[in-house]
Amino acid sequence: MDVNKLLRPHLHNFQPYRSARDETKWQKDTVFLDANENALGSPLNDNLNRYPDPLQRELKAIISADSGLKADNIFLGNGSDEAIDLLIRAFCEPATDKILIMPPTYGMYAVSAAVNNVPVCQVPLQSDFQMNLAAIRKTIQTDSAVKLIFICSPNNPTGNRLADNDIEMLLKDFGGLVILDEAYIDFADRPSWKTRLAEFPNLVILQTLSKARGLAGARLGMAFAQRDIIDALNSIKPPYNVSALSQEAALAAFRQKKRLGQMIATIKSEREKLSRFLQSLSFVEKVYPSEANFILVALPDAEAVQRHLLKQNIVVRNRSAIPHCPSCLRITVGNPQENERLMQALSELEPQK
Ligand code: PMP
Repeated sequence: MDVNKLLRPHLHNFQPYRSARDETKWQKDTVFLDANENALGSPLNDNLNRYPDPLQRELKAIISADSGLKADNIFLGNGSDEAIDLLIRAFCEPATDKILIMPPTYGMYAVSAAVNNVPVCQVPLQSDFQMNLAAIRKTIQTDSAVKLIFICSPNNPTGNRLADNDIEMLLKDFGGLVILDEAYIDFADRPSWKTRLAEFPNLVILQTLSKARGLAGARLGMAFAQRDIIDALNSIKPPYNVSALSQEAALAAFRQKKRLGQMIATIKSEREKLSRFLQSLSFVEKVYPSEANFILVALPDAEAVQRHLLKQNIVVRNRSAIPHCPSCLRITVGNPQENERLMQALSELEPQK
């Protein structure tokens, strides 16, 4: 696959922003008078007065060791939301090229497309929340403007993983890029597709430090793909898109392997506990199985339940407005105390016997 052919034409000879430090070999006594920083220091520590490494090399080295992928195959962004936006901006010509999404799914694919004036083809998931491969095939065969297909697995807000066979078929059939968003993969029963990246030149995997790794506040997202795709994203990103504080926090996260495993185990067992509890409630219509850190619940009156919870200062997400998700709440698995409060509050809605 020739990434250049997919790239928007005006980016073929594009000159990215370069800092003087890109070309320099740093030494211990190097004097940095190139970037208009304040050499006297910063309010927090000795390094924050300096711009961070634009290519996040130390962090990529640890992610590379963790993932088994080369640093050249890793892009880091200000949340995976930044990677979603940059993929659209790099590969979709506004008002001409399209992205394909499978609702109900994560809202930012369509929002980023809209911001960039890129039309969206929607091929809804089927009633079992698996993709409609025949309809997707028909769309991509008849509409050559589709450049990117976004797949979210485990999917937000439904919580299920999409079938590996279907993903593989799409990767083989589609001449554009398949963006596989694995934000919730750490909570799933199957491993990431990262190990298969080399097999599929059109595969881009998105992951984030906002979920299992507990760093939503740091804003750090990862994209894994073949080198030409990563180079394209790096060439159009703002130079210092990941702050020094975020890079430091992420380094700490990758060093805490044991803690990660423990947190995932707790979240999964709390998810199962919550799921069983929700199924036991007489006013709950359906509890969807989840391989993520949230549970989708269908209720006859989602809004009333949401209001009741809100009165007790418990915020959940009402997903009823999004297509194919009628009267549903999406409930994030909290810590054990929070989950107790949630269960207590929901119990109050049970009719008294
Ligand atoms: N992808 C999915 C499926 C998500 O649910 C989210 C956040 N809710 C994101 C991406 C964005 O993650 P980040 O915090 O890394 O921007």
